[in-house]
Amino acid sequence: MEKLLKDKVKEEQPRLSSLFEKVLLKNKLTHAYLMESKEIESAYVFSLWLAQSIFCEETENHLPCGLCNNCQRIVSQDFPDVTTIEPDGQTIKVDQIRDIKQTFIRSGMESRKKALIIKNAEKMTVSAANSLLKFIEEPDGMMHIFFLTNNSNRILSTIQSRCQQIYLHPTSKSALLAEVSKESSLTKKQVELIVELSESKKKAVELSSDEWFNSARETVSKWFQYLDKKNALAFIFVQQHLVKLGKDKEQQFLILDILLNMYRLELKEQVALDSFSKERYNNAIEVIITARKKLEANVSFQNVCEQLVWQVLY
Ligand SMILES: [Zn+2]
Repeated sequence: MEKLLKDKVKEEQPRLSSLFEKVLLKNKLTHAYLMESKEIESAYVFSLWLAQSIFCEETENHLPCGLCNNCQRIVSQDFPDVTTIEPDGQTIKVDQIRDIKQTFIRSGMESRKKALIIKNAEKMTVSAANSLLKFIEEPDGMMHIFFLTNNSNRILSTIQSRCQQIYLHPTSKSALLAEVSKESSLTKKQVELIVELSESKKKAVELSSDEWFNSARETVSKWFQYLDKKNALAFIFVQQHLVKLGKDKEQQFLILDILLNMYRLELKEQVALDSFSKERYNNAIEVIITARKKLEANVSFQNVCEQLVWQVLY
């Protein structure tokens, strides 16, 4: 027998699935998600599991059973209220979205709950994306939409800012996380950070015993606290500590990557549970990614960091 979706997501995305179990238990599933993953099929499995939670007939505390008729039909993509749209050739066209809307109307399904999953959402044409904007701006409580992409920077910012953004790390990293945790005396959060920044076990082990990295983690963590609390000391901190810490380009990029992952690791859960502003979170992530691009374009590290503080704080 094939593995149940709920077991598959637990195995592939242990951290994210336990986070979403909490979200579902509190009945806090929101109407629009933007899911970024380098492995689009892994994001697809995850979105189907969330779709099951909406339609499951035997749900317990909003968690899908995986076994009822609806759950099974969703997995085999034979359930009319869960629709998947994929690129038709190079793009997802506005006609594809219109067709779906028409189907909903014709079959009287507009009065029922439904889920729309858009695979490779970065391939939506601007008009296709715009045709969905109205819906995500004025949710009707009936439709849930999941945009899946391998690169959320290529999604229209109007869509980005209106969705809750989720980052799924590659499934290989889940295995790496389990392996490194077993052999390390670091805290769970510290191991998670290292794994996010490593491609292999060798690299993860190297990082965990690297003196520069360990002091960088502590320094960036203080910077993150200031930024998170909108404390203006974050500004002075750049010159006092970060400039000395990031001596070359490689270290400077790593500092920004540490910060990015601290945001993701520390705040994603709070955002999903509605205890941290989604706008503030999305804005901070976007600002850090932009800072990285500026550094690539040879803006000085100090300027990049100071602009980052300015944009996060004001
Ligand atoms: Zn079920």
